[in-house]
Amino acid sequence: MISLKDVTKKYDDFTAVDSISMNIKKGELMVILGPSGCGKSTTLRLINKMVPLTKGTIKVRGRNIDDIDDVDLRKSIGYVIQSIGLFPHMSVARNIGTVPNLLNWEKEIIENKIDEMLRLVGLSPEKYKDKKPSQLSGGEAQRVGVARALASDPDIVLMDEPFGAVDPINRLRLQREFRQIQKSLNKTVLFVTHDVDEALLIADRICIMDHGKIIQIGSPEEIVLKPENDFVRKFFKGEGVLNLLSREKAIDYLVLEKNLEYEGVGDLNLREALSQLLSQGTERLVFSEGFLTINEIIIALRSDKSDYTK
Ligand code: ADP
Repeated sequence: MISLKDVTKKYDDFTAVDSISMNIKKGELMVILGPSGCGKSTTLRLINKMVPLTKGTIKVRGRNIDDIDDVDLRKSIGYVIQSIGLFPHMSVARNIGTVPNLLNWEKEIIENKIDEMLRLVGLSPEKYKDKKPSQLSGGEAQRVGVARALASDPDIVLMDEPFGAVDPINRLRLQREFRQIQKSLNKTVLFVTHDVDEALLIADRICIMDHGKIIQIGSPEEIVLKPENDFVRKFFKGEGVLNLLSREKAIDYLVLEKNLEYEGVGDLNLREALSQLLSQGTERLVFSEGFLTINEIIIALRSDKSDYTK
């Protein structure tokens, strides 16, 4: 869906992006993760031609971006940034309708789309449509930013630290919700962050960058459990494995047993299950559906998750 081949960006003598290559598949959520200044945002902006390439080839939907008009390309790709970039003088509705308007959609279709998008990101259209950006909390503004990026139904969305300005509690909620929306709408997403927890929570694959270069690309499991070098290992500081467990639902790993009548497992994840095992000092967590021991948690970490990208 998006392919980069030997892509380089130089600012005078300084190489911000250094001969990187990667392919992002349709429906995949690829996270670019790396320290500040390593070239993440530049990579994103090269794809929608906000920054011109120095060397290399970028293809979007199989076409070389050099052959696509800049504005047409940008209209066909959703873009969300940390500072959101909502137009302050326009209502929430007009902000969300920006690209559909540019694409000359019919008024009624745009109106319906605005309502649909607001509901999708968990905001009531009646309550929020007429508000101005200054009347929104950080989390609400961020949701509107996501709604705006998705409104024209682009199959590709580029996101640059989109939840960076949101407080930790709302941030986690937004990350989880966004992941569900992305999977249900089958969008191809390239997502930039320097937040390790965020990357491990939402990514199908993670691309680790440092000093303009790609250090490793792989599933969260590959990156955490088989780091290519010390840089990657240190990046996760040994806690990555706990974040991997947050991605897994306990119910998927229960040893099923009948006739056990305890509390239901609900949507408990394996990190929470491990925490319960440790704090209760038991060997077995028993639920109405079955039980879990440390073995099931280890098996979960070892199992092949390569189908994440489907
Ligand atoms: P990241 O998103 O990983 O924090 P960026 O892609 O924004 O990093 O920047 C990569 C490097 O390129 C940084 O060192 C930054 O200072 C430099 N850079 C970015 N934009 C410009 C510019 N317009 N002119 C000169 N240097 C730039």
